Amino acid sequence: MTLFRLLTEGTKVLERVGVPDAGQDARQLLLAAFQLDMVHFLMNRMQELEENRRNQMSTKLYREMIDRRRRRCPLQQILGSQEFMGLEFYVNRHVLIPRQDTETLVEQVLADMENQKGKERMMGRSLLDLCTGSGCIAISLAAKGGFQRITVTDISEEALKVTERNIKTLLPGWRLSWGAVQWREILDAAENVAEILRGDLFLALPEDGRKYDIITANPPYIPTVMISALEPEVREHEPLVALDGAGDGLSYYKRIMAKAGGYLKPGGRIYLEIGFDQGMAVSGLLEIAGYERIRVHKDLPGKDRVVAATWPGSERGRKTE
Ligand code: GLN
Repeated sequence: MTLFRLLTEGTKVLERVGVPDAGQDARQLLLAAFQLDMVHFLMNRMQELEENRRNQMSTKLYREMIDRRRRRCPLQQILGSQEFMGLEFYVNRHVLIPRQDTETLVEQVLADMENQKGKERMMGRSLLDLCTGSGCIAISLAAKGGFQRITVTDISEEALKVTERNIKTLLPGWRLSWGAVQWREILDAAENVAEILRGDLFLALPEDGRKYDIITANPPYIPTVMISALEPEVREHEPLVALDGAGDGLSYYKRIMAKAGGYLKPGGRIYLEIGFDQGMAVSGLLEIAGYERIRVHKDLPGKDRVVAATWPGSERGRKTE
């Protein structure tokens, strides 16, 4: 047996069931199973594989991986990772796989902060990320954006175990707390603090008067009737709780913006990822809820993907909470 023959074998299995990019996926799985880099693969692919235990184990693992992919398990779940904002995030079936679309949100926060530099105190910036999943938004902002305090929440305990793992590997040196720490203590802490809180949106948070500079969320926003039309990788293998926007897809936005003002500093901003056709609706809801400077930002393919707004802290806004 050679690596090349294994690759051809795996590619055919995937092609037969219509997996897009079958050849590329089979090659990535082969490299992972044999722990090879591309150069070694290209150099050795035609050589007969030695009949040793290591190669037998790798071949078995590769065929198992191909079989999972054949059943449309996402490549990232098989490999256990996805790159996002240049960082490698651990993923499993309990979290939404970080998508390039979501980088639009992170990049917009970073761009807005860059514009504000000098105008504001930079130390001790705080971020609340709801529906955090893998933690990709909060962790990449903490790693790149100068946040010193992050709170991440999710309704799913299993998802938060993934978040925790990613915080540990990607934010070394941060103090990590499962469960709420007194806000005063967080603000006074000498080190950076990451707080992991489980619960349904703001119900996860204690009522200790905490106010954040920025709130972010990529909530479930796919209208329930659209779920059946998703790719099998998404529909059957990614967590439904992270996708299903309960009815028309706007319900989480309504619940988030009704409460977010109470957790934002005056002038604090909220960034919401949205579906490509939800820009008008979510902007309108934010306006009714009293937010200002409402902006819709597009993703790389040019579709509406993020809505951002400022909390004025005015009485007009508070009334609608
Ligand atoms: N963008 C994701 C998808 O299209 C959905 C993410 C979400 O519902 N938050 O699969």
